[in-house]
Amino acid sequence: MNMNPDFLEILRCPFCKAKVELKADGSGLKCETCFRVYPIRDDIPIMIVEEAIIEKEVEA
Ligand SMILES: [Zn+2]
Repeated sequence: MNMNPDFLEILRCPFCKAKVELKADGSGLKCETCFRVYPIRDDIPIMIVEEAIIEKEVEA
């Protein structure tokens, strides 16, 4: 998927308001602060705390 970097720049984690990063495989947006990963469905990031998965492992 193609995420506009400017769009990514304005996205914030709704839980802690930190910036999120696109996962290496493009499957979601990860918050490095609270480790929540927000899913991307049909190229639309689902920025909802209840939809997020907490992923503790650090990506290389
Ligand atoms: Zn967060």
